[in-house]
Amino acid sequence: MKERSEQVQHSSRRSSIEAQRRALLHWLLLLTAAFTLGFSLVNLSRGILFVAAIELFVTVFAFALLFVIPRSRNIQVWSFLYLLVLFSMLVVALLTPNLSDKVFVWFYLIPVLALFIHGRTLGLALSLVYLAVAWLLYYYRYYDAPELLDVVGLTNVVACSLVLTGGVYAYEYSREQAEDRLHRMASTDSLTGLANRKHLRELLDYTVEECHRTKAGFSILGMDLDYFKSVNDRYGHDVGDQVLQQVGSVLEQRLRQADVPARWGGEEFMVLLPGTDREGASRVAENVRETLAASPVRVNGEDLSITTSIGIAEFPEDGNTVRELLIAADNCLYEAKCRGRDRVVNDAVS
Ligand code: GH3
Ligand code: MG
Ligand code: MG
Repeated sequence: MKERSEQVQHSSRRSSIEAQRRALLHWLLLLTAAFTLGFSLVNLSRGILFVAAIELFVTVFAFALLFVIPRSRNIQVWSFLYLLVLFSMLVVALLTPNLSDKVFVWFYLIPVLALFIHGRTLGLALSLVYLAVAWLLYYYRYYDAPELLDVVGLTNVVACSLVLTGGVYAYEYSREQAEDRLHRMASTDSLTGLANRKHLRELLDYTVEECHRTKAGFSILGMDLDYFKSVNDRYGHDVGDQVLQQVGSVLEQRLRQADVPARWGGEEFMVLLPGTDREGASRVAENVRETLAASPVRVNGEDLSITTSIGIAEFPEDGNTVRELLIAADNCLYEAKCRGRDRVVNDAVS
């Protein structure tokens, strides 16, 4: 379960991270274009033409990226180039005599940008490389100006860039953890801890697509508890909830690692069995049905037995799409109910 589930969660997370980074880059590029244009005009008026020209180039580059990035599939490369161009511009500014000895403060931006647009790992690696180069250049630039190279001054420069990098890294880490938690919550049923309907739906879409490509097969089990309404009516909703949790743990116990049980809604469950044909799925379903019947829930010293009806559908025999498969499993489930409940049906005539 974990593997497939994680694959789908991973790909949905990746696209949400990418959308976030695109939006961030949009604002960064606008700011970059505005500031470099401003500096370019200032340096033009001061007659520092080479730097002014480079800044103007960066303005045009940032504007161009504003159009390229929303249309590009690979923003990683463009983000990397953006940072490289920005860094190179700062290097030129730092090495240009008579510009300003305060240019170095702009290098503090590099780790912030790198971590935000490249994420924790690549961002940290790039930050450290860029900072190391910036420190060396600073030293090289001012080695004949002892007032700018005293130990305290240098320690301040290095320490401040490290603190900034560490701070942004820690922020990124806690943001990622919070995002992971939210994604897990959004795909989990809070009562049973199983996957929820939305998540299994995504997995089914993914699996159908994958099986069309690889010509592999899979099956699904549709389960509906028998006479569950009377459990609620007799013992109350809390006991009903306890029973649903019991079903959840029986499913977790009885299925393989690759299988995905989900709470489909109310007292209905659905299980995805990758690489399993109708016969295999029937054996799994029988096993689940028997285990559930033999695992009563204890209520006020009394054993409350629960049974379930299960319908099976196999890809591609019973349907080529998720919709067709769900209908086929539902028909079998209906048949199981009609034949007296507490049974598995794998061949309903639709
Ligand atoms: P059947 O054998 O035909 O399936 O009979 P049934 O009583 O199970 O029929 P039905 O599917 O209509 O009943 C579903 C009941 O499930 C209705 C509702 O009271 C109960 N239910 C749905 N969601 C929850 C829940 O989250 N907690 C509890 N305790 N009960 C729920
Ligand atoms: Mg029902
Ligand atoms: Mg029911």
